[in-house]
Amino acid sequence: MRLILANPRGFCAGVRMAIDVVDQVLSLHPGRTIYVFHEIVHNLHVVRRFIDRGVVFIENLDEVPLGEIVVFSAHGVSPAVRAHARARNLTTIDATCPLVTKVHSEAIRYAGRGYQILLVGHRNHQEVVGTSGEAPDAIQVVESPDDIPHLRIDDPDRLIYLTQTTLSTDDAAIIINALRKAFPNIKEPPSSDICYATTNRQQAVRTIAPECDLVLVVGSRISSNSVRLTEIAANAGAPARLVDDAADLREEWFPTGDETVLITAGASAPEDLVAGICRTLLDRFGGTLEQRDIVEEDVEFALPLALRRMLRDQRRPETPIRVAPPEITADQYGRAVLSVSAPPKGTRPEEDHGPYPTPGA
Ligand code: SF4
Repeated sequence: MRLILANPRGFCAGVRMAIDVVDQVLSLHPGRTIYVFHEIVHNLHVVRRFIDRGVVFIENLDEVPLGEIVVFSAHGVSPAVRAHARARNLTTIDATCPLVTKVHSEAIRYAGRGYQILLVGHRNHQEVVGTSGEAPDAIQVVESPDDIPHLRIDDPDRLIYLTQTTLSTDDAAIIINALRKAFPNIKEPPSSDICYATTNRQQAVRTIAPECDLVLVVGSRISSNSVRLTEIAANAGAPARLVDDAADLREEWFPTGDETVLITAGASAPEDLVAGICRTLLDRFGGTLEQRDIVEEDVEFALPLALRRMLRDQRRPETPIRVAPPEITADQYGRAVLSVSAPPKGTRPEEDHGPYPTPGA
């Protein structure tokens, strides 16, 4: 079997930050119960590992005793949730990804200027719920082009679209082009709201999947960006399976045992699960392991202010969040990596890619 590891894959800077925030709060307050509003990131294993360390995940702030510490998840919360936390005198640490906060700021800014906002995304996703809450009277959610005839538009010349950060770039382009067709003067966000991590992981799958018999995406079903990777693989012509870990692998997916298999991971999936899948497949079928570098990432996020204050109070160092590509060892992955390709010439870290091209451009 030939295993190809997509790079980049797995943890993005926002997820790394959210996980580090809970880790650090636990170490700053030993013995104290730490509450997290919603799953900190959308991954079963990450959540279970924190539950095992005593973290309590809640869906309603009334479940948190007055004055306790609560961490807001990477997906962001609405102003109503922040006000609720203040009313209960909770100590809040906001682990919202800065790239989600960017979309919140855009929503506030354009609603303040009298724009109606069409938010392209999944209506019930935590991030969309949080962003919508910034300007509920100005924002309407668009999940598909079928929603367009039902929108209430006051002035088609005072419209802007924003998007959820973890959409499939393919699907988003279809919806955005339909919006442009319906409302030719609709404004674009200043830069694409689909984040660098989503874009890069999708680009890696789109590039490598066509030469593979199967694509394995490591991630949980509730993880939007992981599910989107399976769709991108299917669009690229390769069957794809979403797996939480090695226990989800099925013998019938590998009828010959000498398939070429691309392995990637959603932005919330820990790398040890990827390693476990490589080990399991190489133990069972033998074969080789390669890594294909498609985009170099170099992104750094600062820790949330409330956590930095806590660290200062306890005279602990504040280290910004940076995600390094994982080191591949034969011990953990079942084989030493055979080759690591260089990213294509001219590839830049995708920190701020521009808005979508206009149709036909
Ligand atoms: Fe932030 Fe993107 Fe990661 Fe979501 S997927 S946490 S928006 S970097």
